[in-house]
Amino acid sequence: MSYQVLARKWRPKSFESLVGQDSVVRALTHALDANRLHHAYLLTGTRGVGKTTIARILAKALNCEQGVSSQPCGVCSACQQIDAGRFVDYIEMDAASNRGVDEMVQLLEQATFLPSVGRYKVYMIDEVHQLTVHAFNAMLKTLEEPPAHVKFILATTDPQKILVTVLSRCLQFNLRQVSPTQLTSHLQHVLVGEGIAPDLKALELIARAAGGSVRDALSLLDQAIAHGAGAVDAEQVSQMLGTSNISRMLGMLAALIAGDVAAVRDQTAQMASSALSFESALDDLSRLAVSLQLMQFDASEGAQEFSSLAEDDAAQLRSLASQCSRSYAQLIYQVATKARGDLRLAPDAAHGFLMAMLRLLAVHPGHASAVTPAMSVPLNTPVFSSSVSPPPMAPALSQAVVVPEAAQPAVSPVAEAPVVKEPVVAPVTTQISADQWPQWVDRLGLKGMARELAQHSAFVSLDDGLVTLNLPATHRQLLMPASEQRLVQALSEVMGAPIRVRIDVVEQVGVTAAVLKKEAAVERQNNAVAAIESDPIVQELIDVFDAKLIDGSIRPVAK
Ligand SMILES: [Zn+2]
Repeated sequence: MSYQVLARKWRPKSFESLVGQDSVVRALTHALDANRLHHAYLLTGTRGVGKTTIARILAKALNCEQGVSSQPCGVCSACQQIDAGRFVDYIEMDAASNRGVDEMVQLLEQATFLPSVGRYKVYMIDEVHQLTVHAFNAMLKTLEEPPAHVKFILATTDPQKILVTVLSRCLQFNLRQVSPTQLTSHLQHVLVGEGIAPDLKALELIARAAGGSVRDALSLLDQAIAHGAGAVDAEQVSQMLGTSNISRMLGMLAALIAGDVAAVRDQTAQMASSALSFESALDDLSRLAVSLQLMQFDASEGAQEFSSLAEDDAAQLRSLASQCSRSYAQLIYQVATKARGDLRLAPDAAHGFLMAMLRLLAVHPGHASAVTPAMSVPLNTPVFSSSVSPPPMAPALSQAVVVPEAAQPAVSPVAEAPVVKEPVVAPVTTQISADQWPQWVDRLGLKGMARELAQHSAFVSLDDGLVTLNLPATHRQLLMPASEQRLVQALSEVMGAPIRVRIDVVEQVGVTAAVLKKEAAVERQNNAVAAIESDPIVQELIDVFDAKLIDGSIRPVAK
């Protein structure tokens, strides 16, 4: 018996065995079982996702001698002939092929005749957007007034090019690209069926290279079997595809996190000598950085499932996740993705790749030039430049700026945040000075309009239980009996004695809490900007990544 390629041998013959198109299968199954069939379907999706396969199964479901159902028997002559591509009433046409135009027109014009042996005449027209004008018109004529015995299954990889006159007459299904995980498990199923021991890592490489196409995945598997003389293993597949493999990039990741320049250099040289694609290596490194970071935030099984790594690779990545700081994982992703775009500018791919790895070592938290006092400080706590004494109101980095932490294990508890001294608050006393008034306002615990009134007033005197305040004429509207009453109450409570209040409206006032607050805010903002600009890490980010500080994006962190 001659060798049959896997893609044909393993073409699904029933809806249940179709890979990765659950929603389409559900809709078609339901329509068939409820006998509510449309006369024309449009299947869209990239190559090799199952458009022709679905058409054949649908043709069988409609013409099976056992009756119309979502589960054609597969053994009657109609089913077998459709599977073999020999059924007279199932007409498969590829509009992209150079099949004679006249022949296509003729086939479409025959749609009006009753089926010869089957229940329905089923037309499968692939790449329907490429039909010639004549053939298209012949199809449209039938589509506009479809005889009861005709079903159209139109397929295209480019739905944008389908005319609206056709779209409006079809029930449309979008076929999804099959995920690498689904492809891997399908390939595994096929290999077991072929009596070949499946190597999961090899299958993952193939699944990824197939780009969501079952047919391409099976073709690659065919090649891999031929390449490996009947066996399939990751190293061989990696060589065959010219792609890097995850295990290799895990080694690179480990070298980066360890800051081991010799290992980085040697591994790059090895990759160059085995002519592996540095682009795919950077892709793998980016993927690993994402999985690494996910594992740092999420210790559950889900993180491992997401990364779809083999058991031992996942264990290694998990261990790396505990040795790498969260911000360094971010940097690895950023540098790897950026380097991929820069590869074409590099003198050659190997140099471009190596430079990207060295860049990661240059900004490594453990590297001498990258170590600064700021690096041992956790994110979102005040950061001072060591040469400058702390400003009075502690500035802090904007939350939007990523600051590499030290290379401490991410699981270890973060250092205690430096204690920020509270401003000295006036003790409770019947002596109040104008300067202390703003702090008194804070102590009063007022809300709403009463607080506004207190904040905008300046203290004049406290004499025999009478507090005199000045309110600027510009804020005259704040002077309301209810607010005044609450201010009196609050003052009396805090001072522990009945207090009366007199508020004079004047043109000029002294120090008010509102004015002080505004000045303090301006000062805090200036300090925050200065701290960001002078921060060595920020400087490094600007130098290395050509980063820019966005005006107005710096905010002092609220205490
Ligand atoms: Zn049948």
